[in-house]
Amino acid sequence: GSAVRLTQVTKRYGDGASAAVALDGVSIGIQSATFTAVMGPSGSGKSTFLQCAAGLDRPTSGTVQLGGQDLAELSENKLTEYRRTRIGFVFQAFNLLPSLTVEQNITLPLRLAGAAAESASVDSVAAGVGLFGLLRRRPTELSGGQQQRVAIARALITRPEVVFADEPTGALDPDTAQDILHLLRQAVTDLHQTVVMVTHDPVAAQHTDRVIFLDAGRVVHRVDRPSADQVK
Ligand code: ADP
Ligand code: ADP
Repeated sequence: GSAVRLTQVTKRYGDGASAAVALDGVSIGIQSATFTAVMGPSGSGKSTFLQCAAGLDRPTSGTVQLGGQDLAELSENKLTEYRRTRIGFVFQAFNLLPSLTVEQNITLPLRLAGAAAESASVDSVAAGVGLFGLLRRRPTELSGGQQQRVAIARALITRPEVVFADEPTGALDPDTAQDILHLLRQAVTDLHQTVVMVTHDPVAAQHTDRVIFLDAGRVVHRVDRPSADQVK
């Protein structure tokens, strides 16, 4: 089934003559346990798509369903709880807290969700992303690739159904980017999670099952199992 489903989603910023239509009647389903890329020119609505699909922002009209749940039916509190427990986020700039250790960064979502951090699950997630032995360090002591591994571990620690990633390889060199893409792929194949990634990078897009192309707030194209020339 669909892990994420947008039905006639429109998002407008501002109103009247100055309104910007960031999403314009987007209807699309993202199948469970697949890796999907969202591509398109700057200003085409990719960030807005991710924000609405992840319940970080509410559409002006239309519905967003995650795991069959219509997000509009959730109160702000319930939506926050839903995000904390069932969705993971990875960002281009890693967004780690510099004053916390790697372990404290990884377990932050558990503490926010009011759940205890079992050291066994922290160790297994850290080992899964290749961070074993670095748990006592601080983010500033790590390379960019290691910091993104921490961010991925943090996104996976609650075992979310869907992981949303906004340009997760945008700040990384090509080799490190490959490693991060392999980790996201592993989340899909080994943990059956659904990964939705905004990217400008054709190489990153080639690691996915499906690419959704946006232009001017509309889905203009979909490509399954993209090849190099389809994502240029
Ligand atoms: P609709 O939203 O009208 O169903 P879509 O083109 O968005 O049309 O999706 C068609 C179907 O393909 C949906 O059931 C969707 O869940 C499924 N789908 C989504 N992603 C993939 C994928 N990576 N591989 C195969 N099927 C997919
Ligand atoms: P992309 O991620 O593809 O660059 P965005 O989703 O950021 O696209 O933006 C889509 C459109 O919505 C653009 O025209 C942008 O200027 C506009 N937009 C995005 N966020 C805001 C905002 N907070 N206020 C006003 N306009 C916005």
